[in-house]
Amino acid sequence: MQTIRGFRDILPEHIPLWQKVEKEAIFLFESFGFKEIRIPVLEKTELFARSIGEVTDIVEKEMYTFADRKGAKLTLRPEATASIVRSYIQHKMYATDPVRKFFMIGPMFRRERPQKGRYRQFYQIDAEVFGIESAFIDSQLIFLLNELFKRLGLTGLSAHINSLGCPDCRPSFQKALLNFIESKKDKLCENCIRRMDKNPLRILDCKVTGCKEALADAPATLDHLCNVCDDHFNTVKTTLEQQKVDFIVDKSLVRGLDYYTRTAWEIQTTSLGAQSAVAGGGRYDGLVKELGGPQTPAIGFAIGFDRLVEVMEQVDKSPGTNPLNLFIISLGDKAMKKGYHWSCELNQLGVYTEMDYRGKSMKALMKRANKLGAQYVLIAGENELAEHAVILRNMNTKEQVSLAVETLVPELIKIVKK
Ligand SMILES: [Zn+2]
Ligand SMILES: [Zn+2]
Repeated sequence: MQTIRGFRDILPEHIPLWQKVEKEAIFLFESFGFKEIRIPVLEKTELFARSIGEVTDIVEKEMYTFADRKGAKLTLRPEATASIVRSYIQHKMYATDPVRKFFMIGPMFRRERPQKGRYRQFYQIDAEVFGIESAFIDSQLIFLLNELFKRLGLTGLSAHINSLGCPDCRPSFQKALLNFIESKKDKLCENCIRRMDKNPLRILDCKVTGCKEALADAPATLDHLCNVCDDHFNTVKTTLEQQKVDFIVDKSLVRGLDYYTRTAWEIQTTSLGAQSAVAGGGRYDGLVKELGGPQTPAIGFAIGFDRLVEVMEQVDKSPGTNPLNLFIISLGDKAMKKGYHWSCELNQLGVYTEMDYRGKSMKALMKRANKLGAQYVLIAGENELAEHAVILRNMNTKEQVSLAVETLVPELIKIVKK
């Protein structure tokens, strides 16, 4: 039996980096006032169709959607924002306190074309802020991401930022965009032509080379911003400058989802030589209302966890693993019984202790202790027990001491736990 195409196991030897990222992220999130939320992996298909947009790559081509045994149409979550918005509305969080900050870490599912470094079950670290329209929050999220990546050792960080405007400035932009697309119609692919009437903005996501070339000089939302959006974007830029966060204004950044308004961004790193995006986010001031809640400004981002770990594997060669403190070599039935109880007691007291239960020889057990990288080895045979004293060997210095059986555990803790 094998995993499904595009799915993978993350094996224990790769976990230390995943845990390092999680630890650092949770620590930062909590310092910035975010609370963890856990949401289901399965939701009604309608939730994603309505929030991400019917005419988007994700909803049209990539979602894992199926009917359950009663015929309900369900989808494995392709992203977290829609579910968190659903939760915010469902639990009427806006009524007690509209200002909420959440983070979540977990798997997402998209049936994309399999390619190196892309998985159909992939992981995201996601953060969302509700109830704050101020541009300071936009800057703060970008600042937070930048800080997290710096702490994780990433280099050449820069934020690519853009403003997608609001419902007030959209119509002027859409008109200009439609005129432009009309003039390039003969150069566009079938998919783009189909999207022209339904969702012209999504034509800008098209990955077909001919379309990309034809759309290189397409009108940008940035040139059609209303005064309020313009002020908002200026505040984001000046704040980032004051905070010394490197950024580039990128007019072509549109993000592939319908719900974004105003600030959208991607964080790029050059840690692997070429530029690659490790996180993206944006404001979505209309989505809470769209999904049935009161008008509530909101903003969030997602970090591509798999991609981030891939980058870190190149820059972080020695993630902290949990070293084996003690290996107990018990020779004979009596010593095995003693050793078992000692090891459990030490485990309970936080000393990482292992022993072998297969009745192997002294030589084989020493070999195993070496293989596991044990810092100390405790040797207990019939002779040692008869003399009520066992041997503790420091595997680094090769020094050995004799310890009394009666006071063994407290003595061991003094020596082994530094
Ligand atoms: Zn506007
Ligand atoms: Zn196209």
